[in-house]
Amino acid sequence: MKYLSTRGDATLRSFSDILLEGLAPDGGLYLPASYPKVSDATLQRWRGLSYADLAFEILSLYIDDIPVDDLRALVRKVYTPEVFGTKEIVPLTRLGNSGIALEALSNGPTLAFKDMAMQLLGALFEYELGRRGETLNILGATSGDTGSAAEYAMKGKQGVNVFMLSPNGRMSPFQQAQMFSLQDANIHNLAVEGVFDDCQDIVKAVSNDLEFKRKWRIGTVNSINWARLLAQVVYYFAGYFQATKSNAEKVSFCVPSGNFGNVCAGHVARMMGLPVQRLIVATNENDVLDEFFRTGGYRPRAAAETHETSSPSMDISKASNFERFIADLLGRNGDAVKARFTASSFTLSAEERGKIADFGFTSGRSTHADRVATIQRCHAEFGVVIDPHTADGLKVALEKRDPGETVIVLETALPAKFEATIQEALHQPAPRPKGFEGIESLPKRFQVVPADVATIKAYITANA
Ligand SMILES: *Cc1c(COP(=O)(O)O)cnc(C)c1O
Repeated sequence: MKYLSTRGDATLRSFSDILLEGLAPDGGLYLPASYPKVSDATLQRWRGLSYADLAFEILSLYIDDIPVDDLRALVRKVYTPEVFGTKEIVPLTRLGNSGIALEALSNGPTLAFKDMAMQLLGALFEYELGRRGETLNILGATSGDTGSAAEYAMKGKQGVNVFMLSPNGRMSPFQQAQMFSLQDANIHNLAVEGVFDDCQDIVKAVSNDLEFKRKWRIGTVNSINWARLLAQVVYYFAGYFQATKSNAEKVSFCVPSGNFGNVCAGHVARMMGLPVQRLIVATNENDVLDEFFRTGGYRPRAAAETHETSSPSMDISKASNFERFIADLLGRNGDAVKARFTASSFTLSAEERGKIADFGFTSGRSTHADRVATIQRCHAEFGVVIDPHTADGLKVALEKRDPGETVIVLETALPAKFEATIQEALHQPAPRPKGFEGIESLPKRFQVVPADVATIKAYITANA
């Protein structure tokens, strides 16, 4: 399988080439030249596989420059019950006879679905860097979930250092404890005296200094990385197999969305031939994507127009993976994609808009009041405590589900991470998984630094 850019740069690249890269040189995102189609017989065979072996089958359709035995061994080491808590890795829970089920994606080390992809990325980075005899310094900014998932995936890995910027004192105590309690020498927590945007600006400034970037081998692990998306394709298949008895059945997925990374993997699974009825995009008050699917207009918003909500990992106003879907919608016309995404906003023509339904997409929106009411309802009716992001998904699923439709809501985090909203809704603390009981009192390892590019660069050169 070869990869090309959404914006028309047709230089074909292999998986290992794009693994360690961010954007394509023309500013686009990498996509496989085509989506491999999965036959009914193959689907049937995959039904019986363990999660790790299913992951191997799917990955090997997209990765042809890692020897198959190495890839199989690597994947089996990543997706284990020890790391993800259950034999199924992503177990399904049916909510009474509502026709809706929750697929648990957040039983990994940091209790959010980002572990599903990041754990694989850590193993792939270590493998590829080792093979090349290279090292990499990952620089990132986080307001919570991404940073901790990256650190837990990269900790102790050969050839990789992580420098993670977070706004000092602004993460939830649980999230802060998760990140700062890591004692591994290759993990560097930098608590920046500023807000999340300051952290992100510093990362951009450092990455734009091409000489510094090359000299210090600066890389990223953000959600546009194709390997992350590919890892996520697997759990759409795994969810489908658990929800159905035969390949004649269809299911829909409802996905709490921000950067469009999670649901874009669902789009890829559907393009491969997974029997998906609908892909339902759920947003919070930051509803750029819901607006697009309702109107055909894509209007990314400025940071100042982004609401701070109680489902903070979805507080995104410019969906970094969205360009991949638009490239498919526009028939992979690179010039057309480039024109759209170099403008500040765009509106689809009536004809283009008509095609959205061909790809199975629809959407809905949820607010703080909806979130709280849905957490209460899920607890009262089904005895299950869900986190605020999953609640956005369930709210939209309950609203959009057609009679007879099976809808799988992707559970994207555990409630323990977002205690305040659980207290507000249920007047009781969120259940804590075993091993996380006293995490706030563990010793912390972090540096407070000013919001200053030169200081961060000096820290990197001293510790890389
Ligand atoms: C990252 C995240 C999301 C949003 O996922 P995207 O891939 O950005 O659409 C939703 N919920 C939680 C808990 C997350 O951490």
